[in-house]
Amino acid sequence: MIDQRASSAEQTPQTVAYRIEIDHAACTGCGLCVAFCPVDVFEQAPGALNADQHPCCAAERPGIPLVAAPELCWGCETCAGQCPAQAIRVINEGGCDPFAARSVALPLPAQKVELYREWSATLRRVLGLRWSPVAISLIPAGDPLPAVPVPSERLRYCQSLMAARRGRCIMLPANRHACPDGTSILGLTEMPAKLASGELYLLFHKLDSIEAAQRMVHERPHLEPRSIDATVVTPLEQAATEPQVIAVIAQPEQIMWLCMSASYYTGHRFDFHASGYNAQCVETTLIPYLSGELNISFGCYGCRASSDVGDELMFMGIPTDLMPTIIKGLRELDKKAIPQSRNKIYLPPLA
Ligand code: SF4
Ligand code: SF4
Repeated sequence: MIDQRASSAEQTPQTVAYRIEIDHAACTGCGLCVAFCPVDVFEQAPGALNADQHPCCAAERPGIPLVAAPELCWGCETCAGQCPAQAIRVINEGGCDPFAARSVALPLPAQKVELYREWSATLRRVLGLRWSPVAISLIPAGDPLPAVPVPSERLRYCQSLMAARRGRCIMLPANRHACPDGTSILGLTEMPAKLASGELYLLFHKLDSIEAAQRMVHERPHLEPRSIDATVVTPLEQAATEPQVIAVIAQPEQIMWLCMSASYYTGHRFDFHASGYNAQCVETTLIPYLSGELNISFGCYGCRASSDVGDELMFMGIPTDLMPTIIKGLRELDKKAIPQSRNKIYLPPLA
């Protein structure tokens, strides 16, 4: 049974508090934290910084960064990561769970649970996957919530995906998402101005010009702000709610067999949308979610910098509706094509 749910307006990033500590003795006044914070938590005080401690270059320092709006902080750690002096600590002070008072949705029917277990076992056995495929559910605003734990810490969406492949079940409302970019793309919040304008991508040196950054932002899909209440990721064999997309984190050879499984009965070739920007939120999740088509991703700066994903791995997002065809095709390929290829039957003998 479902209880009255908290309004989505309560699920704001601000419902988890962060304390920002700046070591003023170490700070050089470079201003990078001010520039990179996506939600303008800092202001830079006028005047030279620490002239007594840095007399040689005090004139070049614009001033000490002040934590002007701590209530806006997402805990994304961008400021700490960019600080060349390692002068910033971002400390989670805790906060309310916006779903704490709500009861949960009915569990999945046993047949569904069994089906997802069977899919997971087939994918892992035939492909030789090291990790579980991940069931992804974007919970529309107002829909029932599954019985999946909300972690106390904030995680980036891509971090939650990588943790799910290792066996964790994670539900993230807006106030547990650490990446303003992915969170707004996935429809949990508004998009912060510095991301919507493309400004931050220039600062990260990820694109050449503001025009290129704006084009990248314009061409990527996003969901309506606050149309989604939470993202839910679990190992596929532990799915607690119907996934819309299943993510496979695998080597290129394994992804190749998934492509071939999907086209086994039709011969269809694919037009993938991969860019290296916003890999897990856009390329692995949102494109399959919106288009109903497979998509691949090579990962992005964010997911590779913030997770343990190996350099040799890539990603595929599979709309759940395509899974029966893919599993059937994979079983057919497993009869001959996969073992023969892996046995390198065309490899000429060495002279
Ligand atoms: S943790 Fe993120 S949101 Fe918070 S002050 Fe640093 S950059 Fe800004
Ligand atoms: S990034 Fe670090 S060194 Fe630069 S102003 Fe901020 S706290 Fe100071």
